[in-house]
Amino acid sequence: MPTWPATRPVFRPSCSRPPSRRRATPDCTSVWAAVRHLGAERIGHGVRSVEDPALLEHLAKRGITLDVALTSNTQTGASPSLRDHQIHALLAAGVPVTINTDDPRVSNVTLSQEHRTAVDEVGLTPEQLLAVAEQSVRAAFTDLGTVESWPSSTRQP
Ligand SMILES: [Zn+2]
Repeated sequence: MPTWPATRPVFRPSCSRPPSRRRATPDCTSVWAAVRHLGAERIGHGVRSVEDPALLEHLAKRGITLDVALTSNTQTGASPSLRDHQIHALLAAGVPVTINTDDPRVSNVTLSQEHRTAVDEVGLTPEQLLAVAEQSVRAAFTDLGTVESWPSSTRQP
């Protein structure tokens, strides 16, 4: 894992809670570093950004997408539970999010299952799920025509 320049004291996180010991996701410090120093437009995981209101505002204002992995986040302890997943706070703050499997073999999920989980267990509305799915296309660093030209075998069920 790379060492981010944000480990310097000047970029200490303003997270209100201490990091979880089981955490496998970036904390606020590394998200800040990724957006400030690397110009990241999309962050894998980063759900604990909800602990830093300034970071949330920054992500929303800049339209920086967080790739949320509902099942993986609860398996690693980054999220307390599916029902209390940070995706609610991210959406409420206007942060663009996508729903992902993370590593589907490790988490033992498919993208379709994650979408079902988002509605049935996390409590997203169908409208929220649609908005999140649309965001995944907007955040794909390509256009819809290119995505649709990919062979179906490259798409996850
Ligand atoms: Zn991951």
